Amino acid sequence: LGFDSFKLNKQLLDAVAESGYSTPTPIQEKAIPLALAGHDVLGIAQTGTGKTAAYILPVLMKTKYAQGKHARALILAPTRELVMQIEEVARQLGKNTDLRIVSLYGGLGPKTQIESIEAGVDILISTPGRFMDIYRKGIIYPKDFKTMVLDEADKMMDMGFMPQIRSILEVIPSKRQNLLFSATFSSRIENLAAEFLEFPERVEV
Ligand code: AMP
Repeated sequence: LGFDSFKLNKQLLDAVAESGYSTPTPIQEKAIPLALAGHDVLGIAQTGTGKTAAYILPVLMKTKYAQGKHARALILAPTRELVMQIEEVARQLGKNTDLRIVSLYGGLGPKTQIESIEAGVDILISTPGRFMDIYRKGIIYPKDFKTMVLDEADKMMDMGFMPQIRSILEVIPSKRQNLLFSATFSSRIENLAAEFLEFPERVEV
């Protein structure tokens, strides 16, 4: 089955085709329908499996088009490099939409990132630390987040990001969809899922 078996709109299906993806990868086949149906998803998949598109396509579909000023989807990832990679996939697959995508990471001053947020944003991609830094300046309005993605959750735990992630989860709405991806499955990830996800569907490749 192809991507057209998923309930994605034409803008997204065109971008998928233009990206040269002809067949969904196994993680995409399993995770996309569940995420599009609104479930919380716990995905166990490594880099190279197509996991980014597996959660980005449902996020783009749900966020749909530019609306208002405040971000409605938040994607957290452990490193600046990964945030930049996710941003690239989101821009590529979202290229036929008017969605405003902003990424936040350390290593440079926050000025440009703050200006981008203030110009209006639909999807925010960030490292946990930089998100909290900018949030504490009062720049991010947290009440409109309807989708939250934690990518490479195992790595974020290894890197000691749990306190920041907990702080973020405290300020965003509790009624939201969660997509949690991890390269490995362990009791830590199971506990994290039990704490933050609601009736998650677990998919593994
Ligand atoms: P990821 O696992 O998200 O890091 O993706 C690994 C690579 O696979 C990226 O270069 C994607 O562009 C590519 N990719 C993702 N999904 C597909 C697909 N369905 N068909 C072909 N390539 C894909």
